[in-house]
Amino acid sequence: MLARIIIGLAITALCFAVAGRRFYWLSRLIRSGKPAPERRPSLARATEAEVVEVAGQRKLLRWTIPGVAHFFTMWGFTILLATIVEAYGALFSRDFHIPLIGTDNWLAFLEDFFATAVLLALVVFSIIRLVNAPARKERQSRFYGSHTGAAWLTLLLIGLVIVTLLLYRGAQIDTGHFPFMRSGWVGYAPAQASRGFAALASPWAFASKVVAGWLAPLGVGVNSVLEAVFVLANIAVIAGFLVFVSYSKHLHIFMAPVNVAFSRRPRALGGLDKTPDMDMEHVTEDTVFGAGKIEDFTWKQLLDLATCTECGRCQSVCPAWTTGKPLSPKLLVMGLRDTMFASADRLLTGAEGEVATLVPTTIDPDVLWSCTTCGSCVEQCPVDIEHVDAIIDMRRYEVLMESRFPSEAALLLRNMENQGDPWGLGAAKRTEWLAALDFEVPVVEGEIPDDLEYLYWVGCAGALDERGRAQVVSTARMLHRAGVAFGILGPRESCTGDPARRMGNEYLFQEMAKANIETLTAAKVRKVVASCPHCFNTIKNEYPALGGEFEVIHHAELLGHLVATGRLTPGVSFTGTVTYHDPCYLGRHNRVFDEPRSILSAVPGATTVEMRRHRERGFCCGAGGARMWMEESIGKRVNLERTEEALSTGADVISTACPFCMIMLDDAVKASGRGDDVAVLDVSQVVERSLEARSAGSVS
Ligand code: SF4
Ligand code: SF4
Repeated sequence: MLARIIIGLAITALCFAVAGRRFYWLSRLIRSGKPAPERRPSLARATEAEVVEVAGQRKLLRWTIPGVAHFFTMWGFTILLATIVEAYGALFSRDFHIPLIGTDNWLAFLEDFFATAVLLALVVFSIIRLVNAPARKERQSRFYGSHTGAAWLTLLLIGLVIVTLLLYRGAQIDTGHFPFMRSGWVGYAPAQASRGFAALASPWAFASKVVAGWLAPLGVGVNSVLEAVFVLANIAVIAGFLVFVSYSKHLHIFMAPVNVAFSRRPRALGGLDKTPDMDMEHVTEDTVFGAGKIEDFTWKQLLDLATCTECGRCQSVCPAWTTGKPLSPKLLVMGLRDTMFASADRLLTGAEGEVATLVPTTIDPDVLWSCTTCGSCVEQCPVDIEHVDAIIDMRRYEVLMESRFPSEAALLLRNMENQGDPWGLGAAKRTEWLAALDFEVPVVEGEIPDDLEYLYWVGCAGALDERGRAQVVSTARMLHRAGVAFGILGPRESCTGDPARRMGNEYLFQEMAKANIETLTAAKVRKVVASCPHCFNTIKNEYPALGGEFEVIHHAELLGHLVATGRLTPGVSFTGTVTYHDPCYLGRHNRVFDEPRSILSAVPGATTVEMRRHRERGFCCGAGGARMWMEESIGKRVNLERTEEALSTGADVISTACPFCMIMLDDAVKASGRGDDVAVLDVSQVVERSLEARSAGSVS
């Protein structure tokens, strides 16, 4: 007995010392990041995050089979903490049981049920890994680039934890030292030993009893040895697993609950996290904009890096990766994490010196500039890693500190700066689309009149691009038909600054945003209806940080409301099959999924059909993140990939609610040779077509 106590405690002390040292080192490394004062969650929000994301496994369960397997593994390890207490107790007394509850049948059942469930989950994980092995599927595998050897070792160690557990419990039964015996059990008796103890063990410990049956022929003497050996083996595997976890991607077992507690709730989408102080009066020679070195990230961003499980869910949904670009959000996080570990000495000592910038040393420029900021990675990541903010931080550094960015984007920035729109067409053209209307739309010059309920934010594409104009014309007509009173800013409207911000030019964004906020505030605007999801997102979620608080609604929301309340009733002139494409900044970033669909469902002649990737899983059109104005020379074009999916539904109308999506999808439909039989229409255009024949002045 003394030997088993000494061996068990020695193994434990050694492993806890090694793992404890590693965790202390990790905590110092993460705390070396820049402050993140906004990341102080309230207890209520942190509790909600733990309940929903960790206990409820919300995101993991979206992928049913691996989600259920992970659910049982996570809860298995939680429940089986009781068996660890029992194992350590058995070191000191063979008849140990947890006080008060340690002999109850429900505990016996829970322990055996979860031990069995974890074993089954391991089988499921193994099959998933074999089916999706990178060697078989290459880039299509979500495990491509992950440390697959470590993943298999993890499965093996978890399996050993369960196997040694069941073996020591089986041997305990065969020696009469099992905590869960039937009522009336009075303890070990030599007479009973000769008949066997298995029949006296609780039937609720069903798995342990099966193992006891296998070991029983070995006799009480051998089982006594096995009992001691497997208790020690169980303790050794658990303690060794702790060390392994602290050095591997399985760190997420401990990091994920912490990361989730400090995550942006309900999700890290919509507006960007940080609004840096761009006031040039506050700039010193030490000021750094964005993230150029690993030490420029906040501690929360470093925590993100340490939390990645390499599951590859983000990679499998990334429009850049799935169309052959070099950007994988998983590999980006892993690359930054490796850099963080490699830079640990510098981070911990604060040593100065020449340090290579993240781009191009760790992150290739083609990786950085391939991102459309669609948010699919953030949406799917089960441990709430915030890829988009990290990418924009690195773009900020590249643009503002190094003046490095794709050359074709220079024209975009110049046009925005000089003309107030990405195309450089100028303010005077912003009212040309009004000529297609047969009613007056007031152009607000001073303060917005009280009888105008909404300021219609037309957006650059809506005002200046031919296909965008067709959309805003239809929207204006439908609003007018429903009796909504609205005006526009006309030449006083300028780009919200979204493309500059997603490009990393935070300075230009803030200049444009402040000017727009000043205009809207001076005009005493209360309610804004925006046609472009990017404008909608920026005014709604990003202007408040710069002092602009407005009530903002997207035109699909407003039209949906008008249809639902009977103020706008679609007609019968339209017939066709319609599939709806979710714009990333309307759907995933702002959760407007139902309203556009409710509009289409209200059109009597429209048969709606969903694409495979829709709603939260909607696939980007390729225009976001200022990609609209950059060359796409690597891999397949994202808009082609999306349009092929839309065409495969058999729809004759691809509907959406974003001018950029319309342009990208329309280009791809034409490139596919289907321009004559498939139309790309905004939801407002579908409603308008249902109501009447197109008027002579129509733009589309
Ligand atoms: S935001 Fe979209 S494009 Fe960018 S890394 Fe994430 S999934 Fe890929
Ligand atoms: S970033 Fe998130 S989704 Fe992507 S591999 Fe890591 S844990 Fe999985």
